[in-house]
Amino acid sequence: MAADPPQRPLLMLDVDGPLNPFAARGPRRPRGYRTHRMLPPSYVARREAAGRRARPLRVRLNAAHGERLLGLGYELVWATTWAAEANEYIAPLLGLPRLPVVEWPEDLVPELDGLLFKTRHVVAWAAGRPFAWVDDALTAKERRFVSAHHPGPALLHHVDPRWGLREDDFATLARWAGRCAKEQ
Ligand SMILES: [Mg+2]
Repeated sequence: MAADPPQRPLLMLDVDGPLNPFAARGPRRPRGYRTHRMLPPSYVARREAAGRRARPLRVRLNAAHGERLLGLGYELVWATTWAAEANEYIAPLLGLPRLPVVEWPEDLVPELDGLLFKTRHVVAWAAGRPFAWVDDALTAKERRFVSAHHPGPALLHHVDPRWGLREDDFATLARWAGRCAKEQ
């Protein structure tokens, strides 16, 4: 019987920060990015629930990033507060197919011990599979939690929200996927 094909590591992808460099300084958008205005329904609902009018969100995306991400050797997964709306609003502009989504609880609150709310869900979703996690909010707490609760290899890769994903980030992610492939 043929051996199972090697399983690619997962790439848990945040939107705001790594793909949308929301903290970019200055009035000009970073090179390679286009500015989009979006009104995703869940955001409108949250604003309305708070008695506020929803103004379109400014989202800057680099259309080349989809192909770059697909070429890194991972299975891509959304791990973003955009949740399933990332497939409607973000994926088409990057040329990405619909991706699986890590879902968050409805009443999303930061965890009491200061751990990023996503962490437990990302670890549960990976279910022991090797994963890289790209997010602008990763700290030592998330690293400690992942090493204590995730039995497989994991790369927690912080991306600066002033810049979004850069060449160094793509290189680090590609190297790590390559190492995972060799260890299988
Ligand atoms: Mg973020």
